Order: sequence, then structure tokens, then C-alpha cells
Amino acid sequence: MATLERRELGNTGLKLSCIGFGASPLGKVFGDVTPADALAAVRLALQLGINFFDTSPFYGGTVSETMLGNCLRELNVPRDKIIVSTKCGRYIDGFDFSAERVTRSIDESLARLKLDYVDILHCHDIEFGSLDQIVNETIPALQKIKESGKARFIGITGLPLEIFTYVLDRVPPGSVDVILSYCHYSINDTTLVDLLPYLKSKGVGVISASPLAMGLFTDNGPPEWHPASSELKSACRTAAVHCKEKGKNISKLALQYSLMNKEFATVLVGMNSPKQVEENVTAGLELSSMGIDEDLLHEVEAILQPVKNQTWPSGIQQI
Ligand code: NAD
Repeated sequence: MATLERRELGNTGLKLSCIGFGASPLGKVFGDVTPADALAAVRLALQLGINFFDTSPFYGGTVSETMLGNCLRELNVPRDKIIVSTKCGRYIDGFDFSAERVTRSIDESLARLKLDYVDILHCHDIEFGSLDQIVNETIPALQKIKESGKARFIGITGLPLEIFTYVLDRVPPGSVDVILSYCHYSINDTTLVDLLPYLKSKGVGVISASPLAMGLFTDNGPPEWHPASSELKSACRTAAVHCKEKGKNISKLALQYSLMNKEFATVLVGMNSPKQVEENVTAGLELSSMGIDEDLLHEVEAILQPVKNQTWPSGIQQI
């Protein structure tokens, strides 16, 4: 039986399934999820070869971490068979990237996840903090956490791409192992590719998240809080309807598009049901065996051309 490809994450030695399980939906940020659905989704993901799970204390105000931890415990997954990442610095009640808070945060996360360590600890959405504090205080604190064995590798996440170069140009080599970028590599926005040579030169692994543009590329459309402009939302809606009218699925096309670029160790897609897990893994396997539907892709690219690479502001403007 075909299995999902595994790809190396920078210099970490970790081999991630090309589709990663984004657990923000387990925090109910895209609608309600029952513990039974969460368990069934995580179980099927593991059965189908997904080995990477990403969460954060921010998602659902710790609900995602607790839900994921319960699932992993219930399924009795051998610890060395899974790669788990969580984050610090962003919480339901705001941002705090101080050394004191992030040091406390990892202990709280490990308790909720019921784990002794995480594979990756990310600094979550750093554009909302002072980038100089991230460089001078947070990353050194995360290094200490790494030395303690509570996290094997350190990452940074956020939306504006400039934050990554700002930090990576200022921290000692090897102190940031990974970046997680979201909404910058799907059919509508491919700007993350411009950063790849730089990231490679720094030996930093790349996780690309939100291939469905946080719900823009789904038949149900995005959640209310989605920050895209009405112009971008409307173009994506037109693209989804176009696919549906042809008996095709926009989510499948968008995920396959992101998966085609093998520079990313994994494409993190948020999932909250066994149905979505099955559809997404099938999309990945079909891509390997049959390739993408080129005609449909060109039609959708043409629909999205007027909004190509359009993004939205995020964080406090400081660079
Ligand atoms: P996404 O683009 O993966 O879209 C998720 C939405 O699509 C959810 O509503 C999900 O239920 C739905 N979906 C998934 N598969 C589907 C299918 N086959 N058909 C129809 N709908 C489907 O957006 P995301 O969840 O925000 O991003 C993925 C993950 O990446 C997150 O869960 C999180 O782990 C991570 N992430 C991190 C950051 C950050 O660190 N700042 C930001 C965004 C995402």
C-alpha cells in the first residue's frame, strides 16, 4: 500500500510526513469538535502515516493541547513514533514572550499534552512581540529549555516573512532550527518560495502551514474571524464554486498544490474529523501516483490572479 512521503526537516534529523496534522481545529477554532471526533481523526491520521502533530496553548485557550494530549494518551502511541510541536508566547489572554513566561509555558504545555518533551517548541506569532526581545531574551530562554531536554528543537512562527530574516540574522547560528510560515504557500500566495534560498543557507527547516488558506479553500468557506479582505474572500469563493461546478474539490487542489513543493518538510493542514484526514491523505497519495489536475489548476490560478499574493497586516509594525 502506498504511504505518505517523509521529508527531512532542515538539520534536525526529523523525518516528517509530508502532510502534518494541524491541531488548531481541535481547539474548536473552526467550529465544535467532540472528543470522539478528535480521537477518531488522530487515530486515522496515525494509521494513514501522519507522524507530525502541531498545537499551541493559544488554540482554543489550551483546549487543543489538552484534546491532543488526551488522544495520544488514549491511543498509547509510542513516543518515538510521533513528532509533536507546540508553541509559547501567545495565549488566549494576550502575548508574553518574556523568559519567565515561556519557561513556565513549556511545563504547562507538557502537562496538558501528557508528554515529557516536545520535539519542537515554537515562539508563536513573534510579530506581535518586540523582535529584539525575541532575539535577546526569548530565544536564549528557549535554548535553556532545549538544554533541559523539554524541547528537542526550537522554532519561530508568524505571518510577515520579514520577521524570519530579522531574527535569523541576529541570533547565533543553530539557535533556531525551524520556521513555521502560514498562508504564504498556496494557490493564491506563493511568496514563501522567495525566502527558501536564505533559509537553506541558514540550515533552517521549513514548515508550511494553512494550505487551505485557513478555510478560504473549502466548500464551507472561512470562519468569521478570517482576516482576509472581502476581495480575497470573494475570489476564493468563486474558485471553490468553479471547482464544485466541475465536480472537483478546491481543498484537494489547494493541498496538492502546496505538497508539490518538496522544499517544505511538511504541509500542516488543520483537521477535525476522520473524513478530512482521509480526504487529505488520499489527496497526497493521488498526487504521488497521478499528479495534479493541471487544467483545473490553471483555471483556478486565472480566477485568483487579481488577488495573487495579497495578504493582510499582522502584528505590531516594527520593521
Ligand atoms: P488550513 O488552511 O489547514 O485550513 C483548516 C480548515 O480547513 C479547517 O476548517 C479544517 O477543518 C478544514 N479542512 C481540512 N481538511 C479539509 C478537507 N479535506 N475538506 C474541507 N475542509 C477541510 O488552516 P489552519 O488549520 O489554520 O492551518 C493548519 C495548521 O497549521 C494549524 O492547525 C496550526 O497547527 C498551524 N498554524 C500555525 C500558525 C502559527 O503558528 N502562527 C498559523 C496558522 C496555522
